[in-house]
This record gives sequence, C-alpha cells and structure tokens, in this order.
Amino acid sequence: MTSLNKKSIEDIPVTGKRVLVRCDFNVPLKDGKITNDKRIVESLPTINYLVKQGARVILCSHLGRPKDGFAPEFSMEPVAQRLSQLLGQPVAMAKDVIGPSAKELASSLQDGQVMLLENVRFHKEETKNNPEFAKELASLAEIYVNDAFGTAHRAHASTAGVADYLPAVCGYLIQKEIQVMGKALENPKRPFVAILGGAKVSDKIGVIRNLMDKVDTLIVGGGMAYTFIRAQGGKIGNSLCEEDKLELASRLLEQAQAKKVTLLLPVDAVAADAFQADANTQVVAANAIPDGWMGLDIGPESLKLFSQAIAKAGTVVWNGPMGVFEMPKFAAGTQGVAKAVAESQAVSIIGGGDSAAAVESLGYGDQMTHISTGGGASLEFLEGLELPGIACLENRE
Ligand code: AMP
Repeated sequence: MTSLNKKSIEDIPVTGKRVLVRCDFNVPLKDGKITNDKRIVESLPTINYLVKQGARVILCSHLGRPKDGFAPEFSMEPVAQRLSQLLGQPVAMAKDVIGPSAKELASSLQDGQVMLLENVRFHKEETKNNPEFAKELASLAEIYVNDAFGTAHRAHASTAGVADYLPAVCGYLIQKEIQVMGKALENPKRPFVAILGGAKVSDKIGVIRNLMDKVDTLIVGGGMAYTFIRAQGGKIGNSLCEEDKLELASRLLEQAQAKKVTLLLPVDAVAADAFQADANTQVVAANAIPDGWMGLDIGPESLKLFSQAIAKAGTVVWNGPMGVFEMPKFAAGTQGVAKAVAESQAVSIIGGGDSAAAVESLGYGDQMTHISTGGGASLEFLEGLELPGIACLENRE
C-alpha cells in the first residue's frame, strides 16, 4: 500500500507560501451555534504548525448539505469565530469560495496569518469534482494540504481535484489515520482481531473479504451476524436476515476455515418481541430464537467469548455496534465490547461512526490507540480501497 508513504506538511517548505488546507469543519450547529467543536480542535496541530512556519494559511471545508449557492445557515462564519478563539489570533472570513472576496483576502495574507473560505459546497461543482472549479480553488494557493479524513473517500474538487494543480501533501490528522490503520493492516501486532457489527452484511462485505486475509480472529456481531447464523442452519426468528446474502455468508464461513481464521459469531442473543425500546426481552441461544422474536443484542455468553479473544489480541480493529445500542435494553453488548477493547493491551483502532460514538460516550476515548475521524472513509480504508483524497497526495521518494 502506497498510502503509508505520503508526503506530509513537514516534507515541503511552507514558509511564506499560500497553503490551501482542506479541513473537516463539518460541525454540528444549533441555532447558529456550534454544539461540539471537536473537529475544529482536532485540526489545530496542522494549522498551528503552518502558522509557526510562517505559511499563509487558507482553510476550507464543507458544512452540512447546502443545495446550491449561498445559504446563511450553512455559512462557515461560526467556525471562523471559534477557530480564532482557539488559535488566539484572528481568522479572516471570506464571503465566498473562489470569488472576489476569497481572492482579495488570499492575496493580501501575510506570513502566519489565517483565513477561512466559505462553505465549498455552496458550489455544486465541488461534489462533481469539476476541473474548472478545482483549478480556480487551486489558484488561491501554492501548496495543497488535505487534512480531512472524513471526506477522503470522496473525489471532490477540494478533497482531490485541486491536487491536479498544486503540490499536495497531508496534514497531521490524515497522516495519523494512514499510519495507524495502514500499519495495522500491513504489519499488525498479532493476534490481530477484527470486530465487525452493524445492521447489514452487504455494507461490510468488502471489509470482511479484505480482513479475511489479514486477521487471526474475526468477530461478527450486530444484525449482520444473523445472516451467518441462518446460513449455518440456525433458527433466527424475526432477526435481520439478508436472504440474498446467505450463500455469500456460507462461502465466507468456508473461507475462514480454509484460511485458518477463527470466525466468532454470537452464541446467545438478547431477543425482543418487537423492535421497540420497551419490548419484552429474553436471553436465548443465538441459533434458536423463537418465532416472533428477534435478536437485538449479543447475549452475556457471547460477550464473554468475544472479550476473551479481545483480551489476548495484539491489535484490535472495531467497526459497527453489537446490537441496537440506541435503545438501553440492547446496548450492553456494544458497551461490553467497548470496555473489553479499552482494557486490552492491544493496539486498538476504532473505525468512526457508531462504534466511535459509543466509545467516546462511555468515556473510553483516551484508552484507545486511535479513533478514526471518518466512518465511511475508515471503512473503505479497511476494505483496502485507495481513497481519492489520499491517492492524490505526493509520495515520498
Ligand atoms: P451500521 O450503520 O451498518 O454500522 O449499523 C448500525 C445500526 O445497526 C445501528 O443503528 C444499530 O441499531 C443497528 N443494529 C445493530 N444490531 C442490530 C440488530 N441485531 N438488529 C437490528 N439492527 C441492529
């Protein structure tokens, strides 16, 4: 994998240069106020480095999903304000992305100064990766830095297209993502245990296929486990099942055996009589779920089995919840796995999305080696796919 070898901001002279940095400032907003500034805080090491080096820093990001054209509720203005507090210096806010305001501010920037462009998605050309738009955006700067891992799996103008016109390197956030996850995939400390959960097998097929050649143990929980259990001839009641993936599940089970990968499925389940927070529940064998009942969480025996494998791991990668963790009655499996991963001595990598949210909300964030900042992007990385926002960056010699 070449992504381990990408040039970073430290590999290129930036002093006095106009540097366009694609950040992930897609923060939650309520009534125009930022409710969680984690993504802004995480971008600070890259920005501070550039400021210290005397670069002229032009930041850009998307925020939400504006339709087309300027919409005040999707303006980056609140981000500029928060950022200037965090940096302790003014952040000049452009009124547009590639218009006169952006151009004027960019050309008058001094060494060590920072500005922020308006929401790149105010132009529909952004998500279409329109080359003219990418060229205009690139014309504001002399160097491009991508530090938005969350959108690195998208070939958009600001995440990949601009790299056709500028020397392109990664910031610290993307560098950490590719180093930690890349190392886990290429040269893991063993045993290497992957834990996959979530609703559907179909969403994770690529990941299962790629990991099958790399891991020692593959733990499958969540709704997707029932397609495997059904494929083995188990009774799963009304649990989630993808009928059209039964054959594939059988093949994956055979492959695991052939490749000597231990594939662990839940042995028991918390079954419910309805998909509701206040449903009646009972713990039953995962392959003997009564008619009319559905497995909505792994049971205590499964948690014990999974936790034992996790405790022995040298590397753990986790993506997807073990049950319907949004409902307290079905959250114990996901919470228990989070605890087991936090307590293990393994290199622990949490692929964004639901599992990252679960780990953070339980307060285990600090005990993990790495929590990915991108759900979709980390999944594609684990699939072994080349992410456009990383592929476009220059390689080290
Ligand atoms: P994903 O986006 O594929 O990672 O799936 C996450 C969703 O899977 C969450 O919203 C969970 O509620 C759901 N989920 C997990 N386990 C189950 C289950 N046993 N039955 C139904 N849904 C589940």
